[in-house]
Amino acid sequence: MPDRHDQGAGDGADLAALGRRVSAARAAAEARGETFYPGASRVHLAAFPPRERWDDWVELSSRAWPAREEHHYMLVPTTCFNCESACGLLAYVDRDTRRVRKFEGNPEHPGSRGRNCAKGPATINQVTDPDRILYPMKRSGPRGGGSWERITWDEALDALAARIRAAITEGRQNEIMVHLGRPGEDGYTERVLAGWGVDGHNSHTNVCSSGGRAGFQFWMGIDRPSPDHANARVIYLISSHLETGHYFNPHAQRITEARANGAKVIVLDTRLSNTATHADYWLSPQPGSEAAINLAIASHLIRTGRYDREFVRRWWNWADYLTACHPGTPVTFEAFEQILAGLYAEFTFEFAAAESGIDAAVLAEVADVVAGAGSRFSCHSWRSAAAGNLGGWQVSRTLFLISALLGAVATEGGTFPNAWNKFVPRPIHTPPHPGVWQELSWPLEFPLAQNELSFLLPHFLKDGRGKLDTYFIRVYNPVWTNPDGLSWMEVLTDEQKVGCFAALTPTWNESAYFADYVLPMGHGSERHDTHSYEQYDGQWVGFRQPVLRAARQRLGETITDTRQVNPGEVWEENEFWTELSWRIDPDGSMGIRQYHESRARPGHKLTVDEYYGWMFENSVPGLPKRAAAEGLTPLEWMRRYGAFEISRGGGAWHEQEVPAGELGDPVITPTGRVYTDAPAAASPNIVPAGAPAPDPAGRRPAGVQVDGKILRGFPTPSGRLEFWSSTLASWGWPEHALPGYIRSHVHPSQLAPGQLVLLSTFRLPTQIHTRSANSKWLDELSHTNPVWIHPHDAGRLGIQQTGDLIRVETEIGYFVAKAWLTQGIRPGVVACSHHMGRWKLAGHAQVGSGGMMATADLRRDAGGWGLRITDRVGPHESADPDTARIWWSDTGVHQNLTFPVHPDPISGMHCWHQAVRVRPADPGDAHGDVSVDTAKARAVYRRWMAETRPAGSVSPDGTRRPSWLMRPLKPAAAAFQLPASGQAGDRG
Ligand code: SF4
Repeated sequence: MPDRHDQGAGDGADLAALGRRVSAARAAAEARGETFYPGASRVHLAAFPPRERWDDWVELSSRAWPAREEHHYMLVPTTCFNCESACGLLAYVDRDTRRVRKFEGNPEHPGSRGRNCAKGPATINQVTDPDRILYPMKRSGPRGGGSWERITWDEALDALAARIRAAITEGRQNEIMVHLGRPGEDGYTERVLAGWGVDGHNSHTNVCSSGGRAGFQFWMGIDRPSPDHANARVIYLISSHLETGHYFNPHAQRITEARANGAKVIVLDTRLSNTATHADYWLSPQPGSEAAINLAIASHLIRTGRYDREFVRRWWNWADYLTACHPGTPVTFEAFEQILAGLYAEFTFEFAAAESGIDAAVLAEVADVVAGAGSRFSCHSWRSAAAGNLGGWQVSRTLFLISALLGAVATEGGTFPNAWNKFVPRPIHTPPHPGVWQELSWPLEFPLAQNELSFLLPHFLKDGRGKLDTYFIRVYNPVWTNPDGLSWMEVLTDEQKVGCFAALTPTWNESAYFADYVLPMGHGSERHDTHSYEQYDGQWVGFRQPVLRAARQRLGETITDTRQVNPGEVWEENEFWTELSWRIDPDGSMGIRQYHESRARPGHKLTVDEYYGWMFENSVPGLPKRAAAEGLTPLEWMRRYGAFEISRGGGAWHEQEVPAGELGDPVITPTGRVYTDAPAAASPNIVPAGAPAPDPAGRRPAGVQVDGKILRGFPTPSGRLEFWSSTLASWGWPEHALPGYIRSHVHPSQLAPGQLVLLSTFRLPTQIHTRSANSKWLDELSHTNPVWIHPHDAGRLGIQQTGDLIRVETEIGYFVAKAWLTQGIRPGVVACSHHMGRWKLAGHAQVGSGGMMATADLRRDAGGWGLRITDRVGPHESADPDTARIWWSDTGVHQNLTFPVHPDPISGMHCWHQAVRVRPADPGDAHGDVSVDTAKARAVYRRWMAETRPAGSVSPDGTRRPSWLMRPLKPAAAAFQLPASGQAGDRG
């Protein structure tokens, strides 16, 4: 039996031969003047279905072969929901059965261009999943007891509305919280909560990308980079962006194009990821040393003068830096350059080599390659190192230092601020900012946190800082996803801390088992959302829609509620939130209902057709005209094609002159910031960005003066790129105001003898966080997570071979996994993928995924919690015959349970990397075992909290947080004021 590698080589040879035969056949057919593929649709199989045939696309049945049996499809676009890339999908809706047969790529989508990863087509598994939740459920016994009864949507809505109405009218707004995992849309939930007057938005971002975002935000006032990979000369990736990173498929295809054009790819990843295998330079650094490498490259650029002086002079806030930090020094660029030359002199290649373990000569060679990129240097860093380490936000801040030195900012082949390449259409209703501040999400200890301190919620509830009356999770599984999941379970099962817990979810999960209500929501082809993401130098809007609703409307039916087309009583959130809001405020007296009312028919509920119809008609430039050209309304056009490109090649927005009409009578500060009383021009684009504060006279920032012209600049306090962050300097962290290097909590100097570093932040490209368990193709592709360990370490630790059981011991417990001996990991470091180790409790064994969720026994004794797998997955009968063919039983281990919380004191990011001990398992250990002492987790939490600098002691202006920093749901200005009593950090 050949191994997989041999099979792959054979397949490649076969494909090559097939390609030659196809080419020969095409040539012969064309020579005869015939259409090459005389199939049912008269289009070559390798081509996308042309859009003019989407109403009746014909394919032959593969099962009927050799008979030519035709299938007639209506092709309906939607947007994939299985990662944040928002690729276009085309649903193949059978015209006879009105059922979706498959999903393929949407060639009309400008971001994904018809291509998808494995997770896109696997949407069909989610739709047909035999274990999915089809009806609203309410627990019928004790919370977490495993007894459920089916209820109606009316019962659920009325119960939730009554609780929320009481909380709001009694002034308990902060007892309402909606906690999001995959957002999958641009701002809808935030607006619902703003309409309720509640600061209740919570996200998963501080266990995901806050570290990466914070470093970019301090520079640009915008928290996401938008690399123009396709046109780059050098692509510099920290972690595996080609394979699984942010905007994975849209970026991967553009990186591939660039490589074909000769671009060099540099990958920093301690693990040999699939991306690293495609790199020209793979650097496997000691975890946490990435910023030191970036700084050594930056130092090289400065030392050798290979930086873009003109760009630095025009766009860095060096004058602010000199004024604040070098009083007495002339505020000239030449003086700044002299200081700059010394600032990074210590970051030699030898220093970076000592920190990273990578040879200095290799680093020097890479630095030369980077220097040669000029302004065609594209880069990205998102999770990975920025999410793993104390001070990880400096990884992206030092990465952007390289871009900013090269002048590779918003250039062809460079890296843009995402706001230049993203378009968020203004909606029909925009509620005001809520007047309250949620300290459970935005605690005073973290005034500069990039996002909500979501993963600390159990500890804050245990501290008695507040309680929750009504807590929603939405495509989110905090018990499984977060570190310290058993502390989550402890508070979610405590009705004094969480009064009512509602899970909005398409699938059962480890958290939903402890809910009071489980409410079924649709997958990517069963719900509405709009999207726009930065994937190249252009702006587009994508439309997710319930494809059967669109198909049946195209056939002339009237659909008024998405439940009419979804399986069972599966709903979508937009209609759910509207209905819930009406029931909270049935007569409109609370001021809530107005944000869910029709404009066309006052006094009636806003429908999704009107919501999106208004948006596409009024807020997407160019779309009405384009639609009219085809005799369609903008909504009809989007329902038919799924995505619209608004602009392409916008270039350097910051260099645009501000029109005189927007400036009025401007006031210009000595360092060039421009303020005005004139009203800002209304824009249909409401893409999130920093919102710099007005000047003391209340004038709004309107631009920045550069070489005598007033340009749009960046949404930072200075209007320029903030090499020196006045925000970090004035909010208690002056020592980190410049791009720099913070030694990680897993720096070798912090490890006890014998400890290794565990990387847990990577994922496999075929997994979808908590929803992949309900996708059988993906389950078959990857279903376990062995611990990567270098043979040198394995030999030293007495681990004999791949498959041996090992114990990995963290600060609060241990997990038992299988070892995978590989040279694809740096010695001294081990790695274990997340997404695996899914479980369901024995009492809940009838619900969950039969293919990926093992049955577990969870017990607590004096030593803490213990989880043991009692029944592994295997073949079983269900509505899907494929479940009888499940050939695997190993579904990995849930490592995150054993991680304590590590909040970075500045960004608030959970620092995922763990210092661990690894040893052969004990004789009684079993694969998947987890042991955790949540009392120890409390101690670790307190230790990290002690490192914070609370707003009460560092705020320069009596507010909780700099108002210009981004916040998904921003309260009204008054709510930013520190509480009168309040010194922060004196609680808990
Ligand atoms: S990259 Fe894959 S999972 Fe992500 S949106 Fe695209 S097709 Fe879906």
